[in-house]
Amino acid sequence: MLSYQHHYHAGNHADVLKHWVLLEALLHLEKKAAPFDYIDTHAGAGLYSLTSAEARKTNEYSLGMGRVIDSGLAELQPLTDLLRPSLKNRRYPGSPAIVNALLRPGDHAHLFELHPQTYIELDKNCARKRQSYVRREDGFIGLKALLPVKSRRALVLIDPSYELKGDYKKVCQATEQAWLKMQQAIILIWYPVVDRARINQFEKQFIASRLKNVHLFEMSVADDQEQGMTGSGMIAVNPPWTLADRFNSLMPELSRQLSVDDQSRFRHRLLRPE
Ligand code: SAM
Repeated sequence: MLSYQHHYHAGNHADVLKHWVLLEALLHLEKKAAPFDYIDTHAGAGLYSLTSAEARKTNEYSLGMGRVIDSGLAELQPLTDLLRPSLKNRRYPGSPAIVNALLRPGDHAHLFELHPQTYIELDKNCARKRQSYVRREDGFIGLKALLPVKSRRALVLIDPSYELKGDYKKVCQATEQAWLKMQQAIILIWYPVVDRARINQFEKQFIASRLKNVHLFEMSVADDQEQGMTGSGMIAVNPPWTLADRFNSLMPELSRQLSVDDQSRFRHRLLRPE
């Protein structure tokens, strides 16, 4: 039973971090002319109205990207430049639309979404003939089946909603299985910070894995003791080598601007060496 709907959360502080890391990885891949494959295991709808009843109910965009879109932060600019045309029409692009916007001839996107209505929206917003394939299938299974890709260059985003406790373990296992099939792939895994003890456990699973070159990038907007999602993180396998420096340069100001109390909270940790 799928109940999570990203329509309530599009453009929130977690999307700011997630989509910034995603775009950094994408731009890094595009430094080379050789084509690549993008795999989005949990793609969502691709485009979200910021005037819908769902978005207005939570107001999360205003507290997230809406707060920093005009901040002028240099490291954030590639993302804000890319989002701006859609935002003018009061729509926030999700991960598949962000990647679609930058696909070059020869690059491919494989977008998985299980929710029936969200799948229809994704197909309408993001399917592109012979370039972006939308599938109503389980993204974990699809990922395993697609790897290794013919292009020998892959960017993977694993972005579940963690509605079930078992999802954390499943995500780590799926990442390891994917990596075993294609060790040079860039794999990005999003996670929410709702319960710190659970995240400590999640980190331990990655530390105990066989994966190599695994980094954690986390940004919080409130103290862990507060209620709800106080922050989020991205675990990155084979991230661009510049990412840690750019993250450490951007985060003091970005996380302060997004926080509820003018405090900056972020961390970078190497979970597995190369
Ligand atoms: N990646 C999107 C973005 O950044 O714009 C947001 C995705 S949202 C957090 C997670 C999506 O995964 C939901 O739309 C949900 O319906 C879908 N979903 C849940 N389980 C899935 C599965 N096993 N395979 C594919 N999609 C799934």
